[in-house]
Amino acid sequence: MRALIVGRFQPFHNGHLEVIRKILENHESVIIGIGSAQYSHTLRDPFTAGERHLMISMTLEAEDLPNFYLVPIEDVNSNPLWVAHVEALTPKFEAVYTNNPLVRRLFLEKKYNVKSVKLLNRDDWSGTSIREKMLAGGNWEKDVPRQVTEVIREIDGVQRLRDLAEDDH
Ligand code: NAD
Repeated sequence: MRALIVGRFQPFHNGHLEVIRKILENHESVIIGIGSAQYSHTLRDPFTAGERHLMISMTLEAEDLPNFYLVPIEDVNSNPLWVAHVEALTPKFEAVYTNNPLVRRLFLEKKYNVKSVKLLNRDDWSGTSIREKMLAGGNWEKDVPRQVTEVIREIDGVQRLRDLAEDDH
């Protein structure tokens, strides 16, 4: 059956890819919720839902992992209602994979089977650290799949982040 993972994927990185690979060892398909879908063009959430969709789909197709469903999910203004909101947008799923404490708590309270995933190479494989490297001119490309680098280049994503970091005063 299907499993769910929800993330902001700002950007999609090698840690996310390894988790999805592991999920697909145990489930026939994975639903990938693109969280905070309404946000983009901020330092914390620089990429649009469409750009994140492209990063993930291009990567998983290249990795020969075709059993995925991508669903953009906007945030809602009430945590207790969020699980029902996710359910309304996605196919049915039997398990949820997350390390995010709030996501874990909300799905546990709705009696889902919630599994944690081992955090891999967290020093480098974290959205925050990758965005910091982009701003500082560091080598972020090694922390993301090649297809993600291609999408970020195509949309001039590093310059977008630098423009967002500029003070307008
Ligand atoms: P994320 O992109 O940081 O992470 C996605 C998943 O990948 C997480 O489970 C994380 O633990 C895992 N991961 C990240 N790096 C990893 C690594 N190196 N190795 C292994 N696993 C790794 O996204 P997130 O912040 O967890 O996303 C949660 C989303 O759910 C957000 O968009 C949030 O807004 C949304 N949400 C919304 C509401 C609401 O609208 N009320 C409530 C709860 C959550």
